Amino acid sequence: MSKTRHFTIVGGGQSGLQLGCGLLDAGHTVHIVQNRTGEEIRAGKVLSSQCMFDQALQNERDLGLNFWEDQCPTVDSINFCVPAPDGSGKAIDWNGKLDKPGMSVDQRLKIPHWMTAFEKRGGRITIAEAGIAELEDYTRESDLVIVAAGKGEINKLFERDPEKSPYDKPQRSLALTYVTGMTPRPDHSAVNFNLIPGIGEYFVFPALTTTGPCDIMVFEGIPGGPMDCWKDVRGPEQHLEKSKWILDTFLPWEAERCRNVALTDDNGILAGAFAPTVRKPVGRLPSGAIVLGMADAVCLNDPITGQGSNNASKAAKFYLDAILAQEDRPFDAAFMQATFDSYWAYAQFVVGWTNALLAPPPPHVLQIMGSAQAFPQLAKRIANGFNDPRDFFPWFAVPEEAEAYLTKLAA
Ligand SMILES: Cc1cc2nc3c(=O)[nH]c(=O)nc-3n(C[C@H](O)[C@H](O)[C@H](O)COP(=O)(O)OP(=O)(O)OC[C@H]3O[C@@H](n4cnc5c(N)ncnc54)[C@H](O)[C@@H]3O)c2cc1C
Repeated sequence: MSKTRHFTIVGGGQSGLQLGCGLLDAGHTVHIVQNRTGEEIRAGKVLSSQCMFDQALQNERDLGLNFWEDQCPTVDSINFCVPAPDGSGKAIDWNGKLDKPGMSVDQRLKIPHWMTAFEKRGGRITIAEAGIAELEDYTRESDLVIVAAGKGEINKLFERDPEKSPYDKPQRSLALTYVTGMTPRPDHSAVNFNLIPGIGEYFVFPALTTTGPCDIMVFEGIPGGPMDCWKDVRGPEQHLEKSKWILDTFLPWEAERCRNVALTDDNGILAGAFAPTVRKPVGRLPSGAIVLGMADAVCLNDPITGQGSNNASKAAKFYLDAILAQEDRPFDAAFMQATFDSYWAYAQFVVGWTNALLAPPPPHVLQIMGSAQAFPQLAKRIANGFNDPRDFFPWFAVPEEAEAYLTKLAA
């Protein structure tokens, strides 16, 4: 085995804690700097809808971080719906089973528990907001500093990569509403994904929150449209009312499931917006020392495809493998770039697919999504693409490939 090395990770979220635990298990020393205590996270507002699929969940299982498998409701399928333009019902409606279930454990539950697990394995946590001066200190005392600060301001240290970032503004107005009392689907559970052309998207799925099982409603409103409606909402009850108003107005079949819903807690709500952004992975400090960015810090996606936590889990796995393979060699800029590139070889497909879904769908995508109603194997393939979006390429992206694939299916 190579010698023990010392790592500092700024940001103890999905990717930072997962990587930290992996490095500890491999015999290294790890210091995580995290700006909120576990109690603050648990008692605070929801952070995400964090639906994760099998590959990403497997990374957690491999590290013994899957503490909620017996309690967390499963997500067994993806259901896709488009309302008819004349309001007469559903124009498209299909369901694709996932080969293996997904799960969503509220980060307010997961992160504090993982912080404790990390400390029990011998990791050190400092509760502090890290800035540039602190990063300078960490680079002096560590073999490698990783910044996994999610959407934290410190990300600005990493230069935006315009070639990989087609958008410079938020593409959706986002909101989350965590509820109990939703009528379950009649068959199996699902991410019920509804696309309302020109207005936005709504998806909903079962999850585990701090008080037990719940359903998480996710609203993605096109800026300036009727679902971009959260600015004047005051307080949790108004937030719930606005959520129900959207469903009553645009998605009556979803409204029907929500006649008896209540918020899980007053903090079970969130509203905001951000621009999807990819950044260059090597951050240079004033002294010339360098740090490596990971997950959302350098590859931030809109939640429309529910991939951020999945990406964070996969990034942590790519980074762990690259660090362990480096053995006693230095963690220089070439190592940092190569590590990010190994992740990007995967993540480019997630980013490409996610950014494509933020734009009005081109005719070939409409045809694919409509055809899935007639071809169950296509519905299943799209559903399982959420687990590994590489499978969408090239047929989802290139019109000629889509046509060839659909012709083959029809034959
Ligand atoms: C509305 C919404 C819905 C979403 N739904 C899904 C979904 O269904 N499926 C999915 O896979 N993903 C989803 N995501 C995305 C997912 O939550 C994130 O992509 C994921 O948590 C990113 O992990 P991370 O490790 O990069 O960062 P995070 O998990 O955000 O962790 C970063 C940590 O760093 C801390 N921090 C920040 N700055 C500093 C600093 N300067 N010093 C110290 N600590 C700092 C933060 O407090 C935080 O604890 C959603 C996100 C949003 C906003």
